[in-house]
Order: sequence, then structure tokens, then C-alpha cells
Amino acid sequence: ALYLAGAGVGRLVLADDDHVDLSNLQRQIIHRQTSLGMSKTASAQQTLAQLNPDTRVELLETRLAGTEVLAQVQHCDAVVDCSDNFAIRFALNSACWQAKVPLISAAAIRMEAQVSVFDPRRANSPCYQCLYEEGRDGDLNCSENGVMAPLVGMVGSIQALECIKVLSGYGEPLVGRLLLIDALTMQLRSLTLQKNPDCTVCRD
Ligand SMILES: [Zn+2]
Repeated sequence: ALYLAGAGVGRLVLADDDHVDLSNLQRQIIHRQTSLGMSKTASAQQTLAQLNPDTRVELLETRLAGTEVLAQVQHCDAVVDCSDNFAIRFALNSACWQAKVPLISAAAIRMEAQVSVFDPRRANSPCYQCLYEEGRDGDLNCSENGVMAPLVGMVGSIQALECIKVLSGYGEPLVGRLLLIDALTMQLRSLTLQKNPDCTVCRD
């Protein structure tokens, strides 16, 4: 969100139902010690306003679910998934496909991360569900499993960069490719992703 506001994105919609906790500050650098206990969206809005007061920041202080996800997604030009659970990831993917809105997806845990862009406007683009089966359980989240903080920063920066590329039509985004980051050895690989012809979300 910081890089997007800095780049001059005119409208950002922040969705989060959580509050700022001391344990977040190591990696969620949009928040400050002075924001402890505040809602994360309001805290982020404060920092973003200091960076670029011309970016309109809208807050959804709720855990998006059901039809609400599509209702919000269809008013956006791109969705950046920074969530920590599979339920919302699948819901965002499905809503993005229905609304034909590109999804910039990422996950980071411990010393590993992955990033990809799913673009329903492109006929050959796979979707998130081509990659992961819905219904799998076992969310791995950062608060319980740990993550090296600068890795989250790297991944967030890559997502912001991909988002700017998608919004501006500049360069070649990570569509049909999965970028894998191994921070332990600092090796980056990218795998080619194929569309799953039986995918219930994106098949024609
Ligand atoms: Zn699919």
C-alpha cells in the first residue's frame, strides 16, 4: 500500500478486521508503536496520508466474506492479496474471475515466499485455484509459524511492482508464472503455470 500510494494510485481500498499488535510491527511496517490497539486499516490510512494525501483511502474494517467480496472487487482495477488464510484467497480468486479483475497473489512463510499474477482478462491465464485445490485445510500463517520480516517486505514490494505494471499495462507481469523465493539461499526461480482445463473457476 505504501508503494502504491507513493506511485500515485488514486484510490486504495484496505480490507482488514484486525487491530495493531506489538507482534505485527516487526514486519507490518505501515504501523507504528503509537498505533498499537488501533484498527489496522485506520493505522495504515494515517501513514499513507503522511506519504501521499492525494490518495483516497477507503477502509473496510471487516473480514470480507460471501457476496461482499465480489461487491468490493468489481469496483477495483486490481486486487492485491495480502491475506493469511485460504478461505479468503479462494473467495478473492473467484470474485476476481467473475469481475474480470487481475489478482496479484503472494504468500510468505518462514524463509520462503511465492508470488504470481492471475489475470482473467487473458484467455490463457491460470487462476489461483488451478494452482491450489479448494477445500485443503491447514492454513500456515505468519503469526503462528513465523516469517523473516524483510522477506515480507520483498514480497510486498514485488506485489506493488506487479500491481503498477498491471494498472499501467507496462512490462510483462507474472501471469502464468510462479516466482519462488528461497530466502535461506537467496535463490529465485520461476515455474511456468498451466491453466487447469477442469478448474471450476476459470474454465470456459
Ligand atoms: Zn483456474
